[in-house]
Amino acid sequence: MSECLFCKIARKEIPSAIVYEDDTLLAFKDIFPQAPVHLLIISKAHCQGLGDLTPETAAAAARIPQVAAQLAADQGVGTSGWRLLSNCGADAGQSVAHLHFHLLGGKPLGGKLCQ
Ligand code: 5GP
Ligand code: ZN
Repeated sequence: MSECLFCKIARKEIPSAIVYEDDTLLAFKDIFPQAPVHLLIISKAHCQGLGDLTPETAAAAARIPQVAAQLAADQGVGTSGWRLLSNCGADAGQSVAHLHFHLLGGKPLGGKLCQ
């Protein structure tokens, strides 16, 4: 997807603060952090989100929890606590239509839903 923001970040056409990369995943700091630790973990291959997985992106997504746990530890929140979430669609507030998970931590994260 040539015009997709996260595809451009994955191709390094747009700079980001990358903290992890492998063959199929990229993790970088969110540009508008909602917590002291706020990373985005994306599949390098494009799909819109968890509702639109392809075999390739499903295989990448399946590895995200394990990568997130390692990144949480690396970022110093492995013990204090962290949250991994993916917004799917308009009601969830998804603003970038490319599969990504938010990794949040470093402060009490409150309830599961914004009021
Ligand atoms: P969503 O709203 O789709 O769940 O999450 C998209 C996230 O991407 C938001 O938290 C937003 O701050 C972040 N974001 C949007 N544009 C950029 C950008 O150009 N660079 C980075 N690093 N994050 C971005
Ligand atoms: Zn994309």
